[in-house]
Amino acid sequence: MSEYIGHLINGEIHNDDANVQTVFNPATGKPCAQVGMASPETVAQAISAAKAAYPSWRNTPPAARAQVMYRYKALLEQNQDTICELISREHGKVLSDAKGELARGIENVEFACGIPELLKGEHSRNVGRNIDAWSEFQPLGVVAGITPFNFPAMVPLWMWPSAIMCGNTFILKPSERDPASVLYIAQLAEEAGLPAGVLNVVNGGVDVVNQLINDDSVEAISFVGSTPVAEAIYQKASEKGKRCQALGGAKNHAVVMPDADLDNVTNALMGAAFGSCGQRCMAISVAVAVGDQVADALVSKLKPRIEALKVGPGSNNDNDMGPLITLDQKQKITHFVDEAVAQGADIITDGRTKVVPGYEDGFFFGGTLFDNVTPDMTIYQQEVFGPVLVVVRVNTLEQAVELINKHEYGNGTCIFTRDGEAGRYFSDQVMVGMVGINVPLPVPVSYHSFGGWKRSLFGDLHAYGPDSVRFYTRRKAITQRWPSGDVKDGTLFSFPSL
Ligand code: NAD
Repeated sequence: MSEYIGHLINGEIHNDDANVQTVFNPATGKPCAQVGMASPETVAQAISAAKAAYPSWRNTPPAARAQVMYRYKALLEQNQDTICELISREHGKVLSDAKGELARGIENVEFACGIPELLKGEHSRNVGRNIDAWSEFQPLGVVAGITPFNFPAMVPLWMWPSAIMCGNTFILKPSERDPASVLYIAQLAEEAGLPAGVLNVVNGGVDVVNQLINDDSVEAISFVGSTPVAEAIYQKASEKGKRCQALGGAKNHAVVMPDADLDNVTNALMGAAFGSCGQRCMAISVAVAVGDQVADALVSKLKPRIEALKVGPGSNNDNDMGPLITLDQKQKITHFVDEAVAQGADIITDGRTKVVPGYEDGFFFGGTLFDNVTPDMTIYQQEVFGPVLVVVRVNTLEQAVELINKHEYGNGTCIFTRDGEAGRYFSDQVMVGMVGINVPLPVPVSYHSFGGWKRSLFGDLHAYGPDSVRFYTRRKAITQRWPSGDVKDGTLFSFPSL
């Protein structure tokens, strides 16, 4: 019998297994667990638990909340091998990549430890005679997060440490495709001393998400996933009058200038395009070569490197790249590649027939490179989310920026150049939320917030960092006076002013 993955409600594992979904090990293609798909009653219990835990947690001093976070960080570090094995088993990424993911998640716990500093309000004495005023940041109440498969531990850690440190209670609905690591790290938060009900995890799919959005007790929704789902969730939550931030998909371009060091660029692109099998929202999927000479040289350097990629199970740290998440995803990417060939793109390396000996049923896909891709092709327009890199040729930096700005997504981008003026022009003009200058994956550190522009993010505030404190709190402005016994004002009918 395969392992069962339940829910975490009010500090206890809750087994609601009437309806389950199979979780696969993508390297073997075989089932590795069954995840419970929460019934409406189970979701309601999680909401009740979060509601019940809120008043006391809201009134817990922020410094006392931070003590839990310090202990939590230590526990995540002590248990990193177990966490990374669970990530790799269900997601397929190589263990060293899972460690990188977890380290970036732990950064957010570190940031959360310092949140009392950001919760300090602003105070003004004597805004009028004997009148003081201040503003403070109050928690929202029960908030919910919905997360994608590709960073099963890191993206939840973008959300709940900040939300909880701001005094909210939290319900997480992780991806049903790789739910084990997130349940495990939620249990570690309990072990760190988080009171029961402050953090709850309910597994499931669309129904659970809809119930969380529709329940009036849930004040805000944080979502990370694909753009069509992000847009729909943002609309539904907004219609319900809820605060929502919904981070979506991406098509990240890397501009390669004629003065760039092409060996460095090749190294950078290999990791950024093929790391994690291209299943990163910040993965580079388009190389924009400025000039035919750059394009020809780049393609000839990339080709042998892609052919030499070590593709295999993530449990072997010698591999560069693991499998895709599901068989469906493999079929979808095969279709994208077929279509690009039919539309006239030049296929330089073809990953469609990749088979890993001993893992014949695994969802592997080899590194794929296209040259002479044009903006009208589907492979350029859509997010592929796999190990496919396309080269688009332009003549000038201005054309490169225009191309990027016309794309519907605006998550991440980068430029490779030795010219400071080109770098400055690029970062100033490009309509993208996160920009690298000779940095292929410009994922902001935890004390700078993360977010794209255009159809890569719906909402006003970015994820984690300082923006998360604004997202998970409401500002309240208070004006106060204490009239002394002998100071009596008459009635004032005019609008109060100095
Ligand atoms: P997905 O949109 O399929 O699923 C994300 C979450 O939404 C899951 O928990 C899933 O159960 C739920 N969901 C799916 N369909 C739903 C629906 N119709 N209604 C309500 N909920 C639904 O995304 P995924 O395949 O898990 O993740 C990959 C996608 O996430 C890519 O598009 C990637 O670019 C994006 N992503 C974006 C960021 C970012 O920061 N912008 C980060 C990571 C991943």
